[in-house]
Amino acid sequence: MKVIIIGGGTGGMCLAHGLRRAGIDVAVHERDRTRTSGLHGYRVGISPNGARALKACLDPALFATFVATTAAPYDTLAMVTERYRTLLTMSFDDLPHTSGDPEDSEHNVSRMTLRQVLFTGMEDVITFDRRFTHYSQHPDGRVTAHFDDGSSDTGDLLVGADGAGSPVRRQYLPHATHTETGLVGIGGKTLLTERTETLLPEPVRNGFGMYFDRRGQFGITHVMRMPWGSRNDEGLTEWPGLRFDNTTDHVSWAITTSRSLAPPDVLDRTDADLVTLAGELSAGWDPRWLELIATSDPGAAVALGIRTADPVPAWTPSTVTMLGDAIHTMTPGRGAGANTALRDARELRDRLVRVRDGELGLLEAVGEYEDLMRRYSSLAVRESLEFMNDNGTARRPVIGPLSVLAQRTGMRLVDRIPPAKRRMARGFQKVRDSELVRGPAAT
Ligand SMILES: Cc1cc2nc3c(=O)[nH]c(=O)nc-3n(C[C@H](O)[C@H](O)[C@H](O)COP(=O)(O)OP(=O)(O)OC[C@H]3O[C@@H](n4cnc5c(N)ncnc54)[C@H](O)[C@@H]3O)c2cc1C
Repeated sequence: MKVIIIGGGTGGMCLAHGLRRAGIDVAVHERDRTRTSGLHGYRVGISPNGARALKACLDPALFATFVATTAAPYDTLAMVTERYRTLLTMSFDDLPHTSGDPEDSEHNVSRMTLRQVLFTGMEDVITFDRRFTHYSQHPDGRVTAHFDDGSSDTGDLLVGADGAGSPVRRQYLPHATHTETGLVGIGGKTLLTERTETLLPEPVRNGFGMYFDRRGQFGITHVMRMPWGSRNDEGLTEWPGLRFDNTTDHVSWAITTSRSLAPPDVLDRTDADLVTLAGELSAGWDPRWLELIATSDPGAAVALGIRTADPVPAWTPSTVTMLGDAIHTMTPGRGAGANTALRDARELRDRLVRVRDGELGLLEAVGEYEDLMRRYSSLAVRESLEFMNDNGTARRPVIGPLSVLAQRTGMRLVDRIPPAKRRMARGFQKVRDSELVRGPAAT
């Protein structure tokens, strides 16, 4: 059996590791020109779901490298107003299921660093600078993937792991559409220094901050202290990935706003222009927030339209399948996109191993994976949308200020009632640490 994976992102590379370790022939085709191309600079939170999948698919030594390259863990999550008044704080110890085992914990990751971990030792599996254009399926079920340089590759199963704009999805399930949420995010990075640390509210100088303003906009900060700064983990010096990424300590920030508040060309803006716009959108916020943004690296600023996958009715399994954002893109609201892609990789890998062992037919394996994936991913898409959708309430006259007041009072109340706080923490983890939706082979 040969598996062809389109896209060397989070899910595709995790699957490739899992298959190669199982002795299954696998080839990955990635459109980026080199292993350091692309704007992959932002932070990703790997949840226990994601960590378990990485543990299952990666070689143990590489999983140890993944753990060693994560940023320092957080102690606090705080929700504050745009004027830095605390609404609610939560200790990461309140989160359920964080046993301390690396595969059962939250990890803070620089996306470029994770990418380098996933490329480690895969030089013979991945081809860069190969843009997939279309596939053709043969009468015996085999599939040929075609690329824009005129080359092609044929295998028994084609996996579209080619992200939200997936050309595989466009050909295979053209009716699987996306909807704009009406939100747009602008993100950036500010070097962490003694000065910039003081620009953050005190509770989140070693944590995760959420900032809510009166117009329904919200900000996020994550403090990223990388291991090669102060922690100096043993063994990392041997990791070849360090030649390609040594992200330094920084604060990753983002502001999410309504399209109705942003200029029409927001998604075309770049660099200093985008940083200036982020500052303009947060005019009136605490001066420390404004300085944090103004001192950020203009080259790392990025604007993203936030979209969500529409529900798709079940389809008949074939020798083409998909994983990750290619089939279930979701808003970043629950931090579940990469983690769901990683779970897909693990679930598909488990079933392909059973095909290798003669326990399942290929189409049966694909069908079983897709059935299960549709169930847990639709939950993640729904929950992520619920948490991040632009209903415009905050900007309505009269109702708007009342709803902001109700939201703030609600957060302050929860802050004072420990069982309510624990319930909220469990809610946060619902799609991040859930194997709630199990399938026959996963139980
Ligand atoms: C600002 C932001 C913050 C986020 N934070 C989190 C978080 O904290 N936690 C979380 O779980 N998720 C998070 N996400 C979501 C997460 O990044 C994605 O869900 C995840 O990367 C999806 O993985 P994937 O493997 O499906 O796709 P990707 O990682 O996007 O990989 C797709 C790959 O396919 C390649 N490709 C595309 N087209 C072609 C082609 N034609 N031919 C060949 N290759 C192609 C791309 O170059 C890319 O390498 C965040 C997203 C954003 C935008």
